[in-house]
Amino acid sequence: MMKGVVWFRSDLRIDDNPALTNALNSCDVVLAIYIFSQSQWEIHNESNIKHEFLLNNLIKLQESLSTLNIPLIAFNTDSYKTLPQDLSSFAVEQKIDHVFWNNEFGLNEALRDKNSIGSLKKYNIEFSSFNDQVIYEPGFLKTGQGKPFSVFTPFKRRWVENFDMNFLELATPSKQKKAPSIQSDLSILKFVKTHSANIDLWPAGESAAQDKLEDFLHSKANFYNASRNSPILDGTSRISPYLALGILSPKRCILEGLKLNNYEFTSGNKGICKWIDEIIWREFYRNIMHSFPKVSQNQPFQDYTRSIRWRHSEKELEAFYEGKTGFPIVDAGIRQMLAEGWMHNRLRMVVAMFFTKNMLHDWRLGEKFFMQHLIDGDFSSNNGGWQWSSSTGTDSAPYFRIFNPITQSQNFDPDGEFIKKFIPELKDFPIAKIHQPKDDLFSSTDYPSPILDLKKSRIRAIQAFKDAREASGI
Ligand SMILES: Cc1cc2nc3c(=O)[nH]c(=O)nc-3n(C[C@H](O)[C@H](O)[C@H](O)COP(=O)(O)OP(=O)(O)OC[C@H]3O[C@@H](n4cnc5c(N)ncnc54)[C@H](O)[C@@H]3O)c2cc1C
Repeated sequence: MMKGVVWFRSDLRIDDNPALTNALNSCDVVLAIYIFSQSQWEIHNESNIKHEFLLNNLIKLQESLSTLNIPLIAFNTDSYKTLPQDLSSFAVEQKIDHVFWNNEFGLNEALRDKNSIGSLKKYNIEFSSFNDQVIYEPGFLKTGQGKPFSVFTPFKRRWVENFDMNFLELATPSKQKKAPSIQSDLSILKFVKTHSANIDLWPAGESAAQDKLEDFLHSKANFYNASRNSPILDGTSRISPYLALGILSPKRCILEGLKLNNYEFTSGNKGICKWIDEIIWREFYRNIMHSFPKVSQNQPFQDYTRSIRWRHSEKELEAFYEGKTGFPIVDAGIRQMLAEGWMHNRLRMVVAMFFTKNMLHDWRLGEKFFMQHLIDGDFSSNNGGWQWSSSTGTDSAPYFRIFNPITQSQNFDPDGEFIKKFIPELKDFPIAKIHQPKDDLFSSTDYPSPILDLKKSRIRAIQAFKDAREASGI
């Protein structure tokens, strides 16, 4: 009799879960585990709201698994260093023959898995791993010169050229005949701190995730091209937290999108095409993380940007972290994240560019701040987004192209509705003046004065990049 365990990580679902389906197809008895490490969570700067979301989703996962007669057992480990032995000890104790998982592509995660394989081997326990986060294994698609892609457009072209509709065959689990004698046990979860405002915005579980997807595809996707840049319209899917923890699979998203567009990637419904592009961006950044390990080691993709002399002002940082820079669109974005655990993509770019260019502060501080507050915190997308905005990354905004937060505000929140929603101090402020902060205009409100001069800060940023290029002989 073959006994298997599915080790759940960022794939907290039963729909389209290849590790789970393969375990059920090849074993007589299947258990499921989740291994939590508080210290690892903290090392990776993961947020409290994501933590709470994780716990809520584990409870939902246990319910879904019980319909398949599979118990879910959660246990703690100190860190990724102790995990391989703890995993093996569990497997030995439960007389497991085979461990199944879906791959995670982070540097620390890859090392953890390598060590886990080594440890399992010592006890003659087999393992199988699968890909559920991407269509192509990171590193598989290469340029004509056989190199990893570092620019999105040719990556996407190759991605589409190589695509075969069979890739969208989803893994469907069958029900285990008899539940094993061991019971589900999530009791460790109650030892973990939970607290976050607004978790209600993010209902847990795969059916909630699929409802969100469905709702987006049927009521918003048609207009996505036009509405995706307007924070007040909320025209995006808001599925990122579900993708980050794997409550929804990217394959499921692509399949459901394609179904509504005659299985076309590049023609037909523009909104759906654009939206699927975004899912491919996600895969692109996973490739970058895999092919260029330096980005996971606190290094910029563009080597010359190591010489940039970032400023450091505690006062400015404090204002930024609280959403009190005096630039309403920047502050509204930050306050949205502090309130909801999520920030609209347009504002993530505006905020990150303001931080790294106008404030000229190190992108790594901003990257960390986002991870500490986002419910969808995802290393590769967050790192990619920050390095794009700071012009230190792959396929980045050129260093001299600096968003003007006032123009961005006028273009993407013309009536100041979003600003008013998140900055109560400006609730009654005249629309004509709401984008443009000036000391005297704001003196009648509690809203702070701008922390910097836009024009001067722009010139300062361009000079800092020029100096770094010169220092590196570019
Ligand atoms: C500075 C910065 C930091 C970011 N940090 C994160 C992060 O930690 N986690 C995260 O998931 N995304 C991050 N993004 C990407 C993007 O902002 C979010 O994925 C998006 O806002 C999520 O909202 P949505 O689900 O409504 O997206 P939709 O517009 O509905 O897009 C669908 C899905 O495509 C993916 N996607 C969309 N835009 C991008 C993008 N630019 N890069 C990679 N994937 C994308 C996401 O998985 C998203 O859920 C960041 C972007 C920037 C500029």
